[in-house]
Amino acid sequence: MARNFDIAVFEGDGIGPEIMAPTVAVLEQLAAESDAYNLTFDAYPAGAAHYAKTGDSLPAASLEAAGKADAILLSAMGLPDVRYDDGTEISPQIDLRKAFNLFAGVRPVRIGPGHKTPLKIPDGREVDFVLIRESTEGLFYTQGTGEVTQDDARETLRITRDVSEKLFRFAFSLAQDRKAYGQGPGRVTCVDKANVFRAFAFFRSIFDKEAKAFPDLIADHAYVDATALWMVQKPWDFDVLVTENMFGDILSDLGAGLMGGLGVAPSADIGLEQAVFQPCHGSAPDIAGQGKANPMAMILSAAMMLEWLGLRHDVRAMTADGQRLRQAVEQIMQEGLAVTADLGGHATTNETGQAIMAALG
Ligand code: NAD
Repeated sequence: MARNFDIAVFEGDGIGPEIMAPTVAVLEQLAAESDAYNLTFDAYPAGAAHYAKTGDSLPAASLEAAGKADAILLSAMGLPDVRYDDGTEISPQIDLRKAFNLFAGVRPVRIGPGHKTPLKIPDGREVDFVLIRESTEGLFYTQGTGEVTQDDARETLRITRDVSEKLFRFAFSLAQDRKAYGQGPGRVTCVDKANVFRAFAFFRSIFDKEAKAFPDLIADHAYVDATALWMVQKPWDFDVLVTENMFGDILSDLGAGLMGGLGVAPSADIGLEQAVFQPCHGSAPDIAGQGKANPMAMILSAAMMLEWLGLRHDVRAMTADGQRLRQAVEQIMQEGLAVTADLGGHATTNETGQAIMAALG
């Protein structure tokens, strides 16, 4: 009998609802064709527009429902003009990471034939690495509570042993899985600034300790500034990179740039119990409501959700569908016909979604 999975949906702000619609349609088609699994979707309110209307950016009922779901699908939240009194933007996507301890922000960087990469990739080289951004502490620890006086502003960077151990185990396990599937040499690089900050020397020492449990993998280190350089000069050398929250925030947009833009960059925020799947990009208010948004990053994030649920619950057909979905997106990107303006095409958000559905057969 088909197993049912409840998916909590946050349509979000700006282009959020536009990219969520084709994503849910694709997932519904896959589930309808499968006798191994069913998907039930329930949308919950949250986001900047909801905050502007009600004064609440993430209602307790939405948080509770998300916590009970098997997985959370989120498009993008936030609008530059909607802010708290302290001047910061509302960001329920970050609140969810903290509420559910989603410590591992997984950002795959794969460059296939259809990607509009600015890189010149030498023959025989392949760019396929995963950046893991710690997503609950680091320099985001005092988010919303930093001290600001007339002449002084302070935020605190926090690294804990508990979260770092879980983060590094996750990174090493991922490298092990990738190696088992012939993806990468089984190498994890700790990206830090241990030459300057004690907190990063501490981060690195925990990494080195966790590495000992994975003797079949290569564990090495890189400073974050050099990593930014090498991501441009020789990204084919990377396999799994693991880093602090703010460093990961910045490097993941660099990774998106290497892939040809935010419109094709998926991500997942994963904890021990829950996971949120969402694109790397924001709500893109500059193109909202025009049918121009590329739904690929959102659909690729949904593919990651299928793979995660399939692995977690041992539903192999679901993992396989996640891979099929990723291949369908890559096929449409490579054909270059039904792609949106950010990839040099003329297709609308829905046309790209329909092309991906057709490519699934
Ligand atoms: P953004 O990612 O929304 O947009 C940056 C640029 O990329 C824009 O030119 C936009 O048009 C383009 N872009 C983004 N997604 C695209 C897509 N799917 N297809 C085609 N083009 C796309 O970043 P921003 O403008 O800095 O932020 C806008 C709002 O989103 C802000 O309120 C910000 O706080 C919020 N934000 C939310 C998240 C999230 O929900 N995870 C992440 C980043 C920013």
